[in-house]
Amino acid sequence: MMKIRRLFILVSLLLFASYACNETSPGRSPASKNSSEAFILDDFESSSSIAIWNGTLSLSKEFPAHGKHSLKLNSSDGRPLWLESEELPKDWSSYETLKFDIYNPSSQLYYGYIQICDEQGTDEEAEFHGQSYKWQKVFLNTGWNHFEFLLQNAMVEEGDRPLALDQIRKFRLSFGSVDHSLYIDNIRLVAGEEGAKTASHIDPRDCRVVIDNRYVYPTLAGPQEKIKPSPEIKRLRTQAEAAVENLEKEVGVAELQGYQTLYQRIPLITADIGLRIRSKLVWFQNEEEETKILEYIIASCSEASNEIEALLSTQKSGIPVLAPEDETSFQTFYVPPYPPFNELKPVDGFYRDKEGKPVLIFSMLQINKGPLMDYFAPFNHRLESYTVGGGSRYNIESSPVYEAFHKYSGTHRVGWDGWCGHLIKDRWAMGGLKEDVVICLESPHIRQAILEYMKIHHSEWKENPNLLYNIMAYELQYICYCEKSQQMFRDWLKTKYKNISVLNRIWDTRYQFFAQIKAPATHNTRPVDNVNRAAWYDWACFNTRRFTDYLKWVKKEMRKFDPDIPICAGGTSSMLSSSNSVSGIDEEQIINEVDDVILNESGSSTIFSDLLLSLSEEKKVMVEPEMGGGVHGILLQFLHGKSDVSKWWWASAPSREYLQMNQSSLPHSKTISLSDINEVLRIGLDVRRLSSEIAAFTQLEPEVAILYSKTSIVQVPPPLVQAGHTPYIDAVYSVWEGSRFLGCRIGFVSEKQILAGKLAKFKLLLVPAAKYIRPEVVTAVMNYIKKGGTAVIIPESFIFDQYARENNRISELGIAITDVTLPPVIGEGEKVQNYDQSFSQSILYGDVQKMITTLNQDMTLYSDGLVQSIDPGSHQVLARFDDGNAAIVLAQTGNGALYYLAAPLKTADYHKLLSPLAQKLGLKRPVVAIDQNGKLVTGVEVRAVERETDYLVYASNLTPEPVEFDLKASGETGVIIDLRSLHEVPEGHVKLAPFQETIFQVEKK
Ligand SMILES: [Zn+2]
Repeated sequence: MMKIRRLFILVSLLLFASYACNETSPGRSPASKNSSEAFILDDFESSSSIAIWNGTLSLSKEFPAHGKHSLKLNSSDGRPLWLESEELPKDWSSYETLKFDIYNPSSQLYYGYIQICDEQGTDEEAEFHGQSYKWQKVFLNTGWNHFEFLLQNAMVEEGDRPLALDQIRKFRLSFGSVDHSLYIDNIRLVAGEEGAKTASHIDPRDCRVVIDNRYVYPTLAGPQEKIKPSPEIKRLRTQAEAAVENLEKEVGVAELQGYQTLYQRIPLITADIGLRIRSKLVWFQNEEEETKILEYIIASCSEASNEIEALLSTQKSGIPVLAPEDETSFQTFYVPPYPPFNELKPVDGFYRDKEGKPVLIFSMLQINKGPLMDYFAPFNHRLESYTVGGGSRYNIESSPVYEAFHKYSGTHRVGWDGWCGHLIKDRWAMGGLKEDVVICLESPHIRQAILEYMKIHHSEWKENPNLLYNIMAYELQYICYCEKSQQMFRDWLKTKYKNISVLNRIWDTRYQFFAQIKAPATHNTRPVDNVNRAAWYDWACFNTRRFTDYLKWVKKEMRKFDPDIPICAGGTSSMLSSSNSVSGIDEEQIINEVDDVILNESGSSTIFSDLLLSLSEEKKVMVEPEMGGGVHGILLQFLHGKSDVSKWWWASAPSREYLQMNQSSLPHSKTISLSDINEVLRIGLDVRRLSSEIAAFTQLEPEVAILYSKTSIVQVPPPLVQAGHTPYIDAVYSVWEGSRFLGCRIGFVSEKQILAGKLAKFKLLLVPAAKYIRPEVVTAVMNYIKKGGTAVIIPESFIFDQYARENNRISELGIAITDVTLPPVIGEGEKVQNYDQSFSQSILYGDVQKMITTLNQDMTLYSDGLVQSIDPGSHQVLARFDDGNAAIVLAQTGNGALYYLAAPLKTADYHKLLSPLAQKLGLKRPVVAIDQNGKLVTGVEVRAVERETDYLVYASNLTPEPVEFDLKASGETGVIIDLRSLHEVPEGHVKLAPFQETIFQVEKK
């Protein structure tokens, strides 16, 4: 049945094609030797024609490029949009281009995948061995996009052969989740110049997208002379050029009078970006975008011109002007230049100049020269030397490691089928030639080759006068099952347990000798489902230990070539991910045993800065080698302790291979406005001008700590490993987010630090669902409370030990857990592995979002996650669920207090719970921000520190909305100045624009 219909479609297609282009196609195949010919694969003119397509599709009369109909890719519930056919004619070999047209009705850009499979590769070979053409090359500009895919140049993804054009078996386009429909039309094969009959309608303002194997060239369809600008645009263009010219003159005049004009020159830079860079990019080449650009240029240049005029004339204005004879005032816009970098030394948490003043570094990938050096530090002050693996995915072929990898046995990683963790490359690696080079770090041949690699490359580190830190390699992960690793593991176990009977008791095994032990296996990048979780815990701890030891070895060898330069490694943001339980690394070990400066690659959230700084036993410089995460909240990153940031990125030219990367490049991105770029350039100046003020915010140690439980990170039920998160990780994020608006620093405390007696310095400990924990850590927490500490405990903390054996320590508090209700989604992941086998309480599954009301009715909260039924014993119940069960219990223990929650809370509700507690504990908050209801403002992070004569307060608006609040200090205050604008803030009433961030100086009276 299928066959017949397929043949029918094919014949009708052929007939239609012959008719349409008035030429014949010989037989079954669309192949032709003629110089000019088109073959329509589908024009979507009749419902029968779409029977050969699968996908999220229907015929449509909207947006046809040819004929009366198009194919609509329908959007629903955030599901991906796609279409696919395996019933197209097979022989495309005599055509030069595959053409099609897609209409994108939104102003957003998209990057779809195009896949063309041939009969030389099955679907599986296509998926796992790159045996099809499959790339994210379907660039969708706003409006019409006319694609020309150059067939004769197309190679399969693996790059090892051309696409077999005479054996095409599948064609697929997919776009991911798009919240509106897309329209596609007139998919056709074309040889030579296309005739008018098959050609789509093309307006000169449309986008033409040529795809040449891995490269994409989107341009205006043109011809240029047919695009006539509107009179309004012409007027704006003239006005913009005049505004730029005027500002250039004013800047010249100001400089003639000795002014530093770095701030006033910023509008000239953004004008150049708008007029000379963006004007060349098709996603800006329309009147709507051009109007925005021109209006911004006119406004910003005029404003800067007025500012200079006010400075240089005798007119009255609101712009802060210093008296020319004033040589004492420190409040000016003067920005000190960077000192020579080889004079900077990392001391007490910051690079410092000869006078000991902190110097904050802000650089931009890949900027090392040109006018932007007035705003950014040279990017080459940091270097990734790839000494961990002896080469990168870009250059491994020329490394001695590559030769060793191919020459000797025992050099390949064993027993691991997941991502190679940059050691060195696999099929997931971006860039470089496609080949699996996944090395074993225990191989003596690999180690020897790595030493040779250092010998060849160390001059690159030594000869760079700007170098401030050398990254051995980052985003690392490592796990290996080779015989040497197995033996090391056995030795490690022997040292830990001494006697096999001790191990057997803990692992619940019956080994006679250590020699019988094999490391617990993984499959599909995670521990097998029935893994022995006690053994897994030991194996994971062993792996992080041996990898840290390996890094120490590499560092020791590097020191032979370079005794001075700060060295670092690690820096993964996967640290707070469930996958870290498998092949992760232990940042606490790396920071304290390897890093001279703390490496922190975490674009958007500042949670990693708080965590990594807390894990460090000494105050170290924290560096960010490649900060993604957009252009908002950059100051906040410095305020949370990154004192050397390299921002991703300012491309030298738009990428033609990875078009979506252009949307993170400042000059090229459609989502980064000129006003955003202005802010980034100002940040570049302000972190230099206000370095001491910024540094002040991390001088004071936090009084609130979240428990960082390495045990709960490592102990993850195997089915949850790939979920990305666990109840512990969710609670960490949630409680961190829920405490960030309290107006003070929030830190972390690790299990290791707790055992070393570090809890005493905190007024409040937050325990986020630390389900698996070493018993001695619980004992230390209990002692901390008895001696006067305060803890908030979120379930299911303290229920299992590090080996995933039930060990309920909550009962010691006189709180009995009678049962637990799990949300179905957690239940599915955990029930088999965990609850059913080793949990003595009864388990229920069901809807778990419950309302919690305090007994004095002054607060309503909501639970999020599992719910425990608890018997509070003799303790005070502070809040109950709707069903009357205890929800929050206060247990006074010794001199301290413990708040036990029967359920995790919604993120925002932690703030509600913790606000009064912060008040009660007298957390040091010299200035707080109060909203119109008299409460602590949320959505804006506001924190203050006290200095001798003033307070410093920062405020970072995390929302896209403007906000207002009042600064309230503990003592009498005088003048309040916004240090970024140098404007006074009357009455301490602050108004922040969307995402605006700044620092205030509040004078003490
Ligand atoms: Zn190995």
